[in-house]
Amino acid sequence: MNKNIGIAKIVIAIDGPAASGKSTTAKLLAKKLGYIYIDTGAMYRAFTLKVLSENLLEQLLGDESRLRQFVEHTDVRLTDTQVWLDGRDVTEQIRSNEVSKLVSKISALKAVREKLSAIQKKLGEAKGVVMDGRDIGTAIFPNAELKIYMMASARERAKRRYAELKAKNADIDVSLDALEAEIKQRDEEDMNRAVSPLRKADDAVVLDTSSLTIEEQVERIYRLALEKINS
Ligand code: C5P
Repeated sequence: MNKNIGIAKIVIAIDGPAASGKSTTAKLLAKKLGYIYIDTGAMYRAFTLKVLSENLLEQLLGDESRLRQFVEHTDVRLTDTQVWLDGRDVTEQIRSNEVSKLVSKISALKAVREKLSAIQKKLGEAKGVVMDGRDIGTAIFPNAELKIYMMASARERAKRRYAELKAKNADIDVSLDALEAEIKQRDEEDMNRAVSPLRKADDAVVLDTSSLTIEEQVERIYRLALEKINS
């Protein structure tokens, strides 16, 4: 816990397009503030992993009551550093490229969003949280004390994702162009869905991370957070 932080706890909402550096920054920021970090994308990814591994996509898209049942019987939880799906640790699996490619279709489903939004609102109730996603400042916490909209060019974001994937698996067969196309496609879907599309909240501070290091990103948001906490 930083000694600059008084007793006041705020909600920090960080939104932005895919691979804009939100989660790394949000995690470090939360640590620096002694706050809880909540990765809402991980929750949508866990749902997507289940749809993929049980091969349910066709069934669920065409059948609202089957979808509701599926959502009701799916348990997604976050602990400090892990993501749990129906009691199983899926922290690594949800980061696969297959999940990334499908997640926007699953996150566009109203029943899925309703369930996860309710959980997210509860998790942030006591404040002292940094929550990142696509609709945090617009739909989950429209009254968040600090809202950040992180962005960077699609090429830059693809380069970061490429480096991340290569670091995990040097033999992975993926091209930078393909990753950039996938990122653009995901943004397109996230920005154009009917329920809670990705958009910048009117009162969000825009942070273009194209030429910022992670440390610089954290430091900028940290300073903004201290201003809010001390105001
Ligand atoms: O943040 P991340 O890239 O892991 O998010 C994966 C996907 O989850 C996004 O592309 C989006 O479709 C969905 N998502 C969402 N709302 C959020 C967080 C993520 O729709 N609050």
